[in-house]
Amino acid sequence: MAQPKFINVILPLAVPRIYTYEVPPTLQAQVDFGMRVEVPLRSKLYSAIIVETDVKPDPQHKPRKIVSMIDTSAIITREQYQFWQWLSSYYMTTIGEVMNVAVPAGLKLSSESKIIAMPGLMDKAGDMSDHEFLIAEAISIREELTIQEIQDILDKKTVFPVIKNLLEKGAILIKEELKTKYKPKIEDFIVLSDSYDRTDLSGAFEKIKRSEHQTHAFLSYISLSKDKPVVSKKDVLEMSGMKGAVVKALEKKGLVDIIRKEVSRFGGQIIETSEPPPLSTTQQEALDSIHKQFGDKDILLLFGVTGSGKTRIYMELIRETMAKGQQVLYLLPEIALTTQITARLQSVFGDKIGIYHSRMNNNERVELWNATLNNKPILLGARSSLLLPFRNLGLIIVDEEHDPSYKQNDPAPRYNARDAAIYLASMNGAKVILGTATPSLETYQNTIDKKYGLVKILERHGASVLPELTVIDLKEQYSKNLMSSLFSKPLVDLIQAALANKEQSLIFQNRRGYAPTLQCVTCDWHAGCPNCDVGLTVHRYFEELRCHYCGFRAPIPRDCPQCGFDQLKKIGFGTQKIEDEIKAIFPTARVRRMDYDTTKTKNAYERILNDFKEQKIDILVGTQMITKGMDFHNISVVGILLADKMLYFPDFRAHERAFQLITQVSGRAGRRARQGKVAIQTFNPDHPVILETLTYNYSRFYKRELRERKRF
Ligand code: ADP
Ligand code: ZN
Ligand code: ZN
Repeated sequence: MAQPKFINVILPLAVPRIYTYEVPPTLQAQVDFGMRVEVPLRSKLYSAIIVETDVKPDPQHKPRKIVSMIDTSAIITREQYQFWQWLSSYYMTTIGEVMNVAVPAGLKLSSESKIIAMPGLMDKAGDMSDHEFLIAEAISIREELTIQEIQDILDKKTVFPVIKNLLEKGAILIKEELKTKYKPKIEDFIVLSDSYDRTDLSGAFEKIKRSEHQTHAFLSYISLSKDKPVVSKKDVLEMSGMKGAVVKALEKKGLVDIIRKEVSRFGGQIIETSEPPPLSTTQQEALDSIHKQFGDKDILLLFGVTGSGKTRIYMELIRETMAKGQQVLYLLPEIALTTQITARLQSVFGDKIGIYHSRMNNNERVELWNATLNNKPILLGARSSLLLPFRNLGLIIVDEEHDPSYKQNDPAPRYNARDAAIYLASMNGAKVILGTATPSLETYQNTIDKKYGLVKILERHGASVLPELTVIDLKEQYSKNLMSSLFSKPLVDLIQAALANKEQSLIFQNRRGYAPTLQCVTCDWHAGCPNCDVGLTVHRYFEELRCHYCGFRAPIPRDCPQCGFDQLKKIGFGTQKIEDEIKAIFPTARVRRMDYDTTKTKNAYERILNDFKEQKIDILVGTQMITKGMDFHNISVVGILLADKMLYFPDFRAHERAFQLITQVSGRAGRRARQGKVAIQTFNPDHPVILETLTYNYSRFYKRELRERKRF
């Protein structure tokens, strides 16, 4: 009789240990590292991942038996598991929690899972096994099944493998994922019916010659279908100006077929690629320097001003890495992901790119997971894409490396994706490029210490020049009565001029620290904490000023403690109020707002960006969301309503954030030949950070900031 065999597995639970199970002799030949097995724990079933085979179990403890094997090949790699272990120990999380965030729900069955149907489920019945078909049929009637119900229907305990197959066929979904309210986008498409041939359509036209509308719609289809036979119905209707019923009539007459298809959120399904424009001399020099420094450094900071063409340089590095047969991970802050950059990279690399972000549904995630295992050359994603099963990682690009959203707060593991990326790269012998126009102090310090290489690009690409920054002294504006609500005279004038020239404006208001602080309108007094040198916030409910750092409290003064003037202003206001104010000042302008509230629904973010791109918006008000991922050519004015709010935010990185935000948002202005204008409103026009930002003097900013930090 065969000896019992034991394995160690990890489970997607916050349990601090690795579990040992017994493998029955019939399954022993199949078990290997990285495969999923179905195991009982307490009174439930889970899919666990094998991390060790040939285990000697603790003699005190009799392991339970596994129920079934789910996979025939590994779904994680050994390097990936090592990386998870590092994350788990470095960020003090259980390995189960790491697994839980890393593995898409579709690969994480448990007896708690509920299964629901994907649209078109029964269309796939043709290639289902009997068991799969039984389940599919039951779901299409009942809409939702529990694992227990599936066990009853099949009259057996081992059901995970059947569910796995249905998931892989795209027939079902795991329900928990629906928390993200994913609805596949289904659209109608038109194809020419099989009975007709493009080269001879006289018969077809004959059939509809009496209907001008139908002829019109059919002609539109023919013209749109020149390059690709399947055309979106929407496009046909748009081009012909006809209603859906007309197309329906064409279908009835047998000229065309209408098919329903899921469309990708990233636009068209056929991606045409083209060669990117050649590198400029400056860019070529930067690339040469990158090559040279990669000789003895594994990590490089690409410090390039906004619009210098960092993305263009990444493209070259991606190409070189691909040519070596290695994979590239391109990390971006979540919000920047869904926009232009994706389209830009796809236009060069086509379907060589896989995109991974939090708004995908679980089938898409599983698909991408498997693609990564199968050596997909480029993975573009937010921080969680670090956890994918790379085969052969050669390069990690961390774009906008300074961005605070690289830090994961909840749930565990609370990791910083930039730092974790560096570890992941070193484990895999891969190179790292950190790209930004405003390096984090930590990264810059590492270049000074020669731990990282440094490549600078100080000019924008082509004729585009950095915008002109002006500081507007709000004290003066208030005292001379020049303010229209929150807008100074110079800023109003700039926006007016932009409107007259049909150019666009961005108005930035950082929403963080929503509670207002107190400020004197005549002198430079502002409510600061005597202990911590940060701003105090007004708590109306308690009628007091409070420090969010040390807890200091003081009653709200009636008059200014410095000059005695009795007009203390609460400063700090939300974007919604600003939107209303702008509409009042510029009644004919088309104003929109982009912040957390207006972008909650799916696609709202893309819609606003798109409207802005198509110049259906004159003035866009927004939070830091507007600082990212926008490369539009018609923005001539950027207004920062209250820089002070960022400067006095209670955090030791406040100044660094302020420098980054002002520089990044300014960088949106004037991307073509014409120089953009940036107006920074502040009560502290002489604040060192404001002055450094004004001249984009990073090195002075860096040195002063470092001194400050040492001092405290
Ligand atoms: P960054 O990422 O540094 O902000 P981008 O790569 O977005 O800069 O480039 C800024 C703009 O300049 C983009 O519109 C881009 O298409 C254009 N651009 C950059 N490099 C080139 C080039 N070599 N040839 C033509 N256009 C370029
Ligand atoms: Zn005062
Ligand atoms: Zn304090």
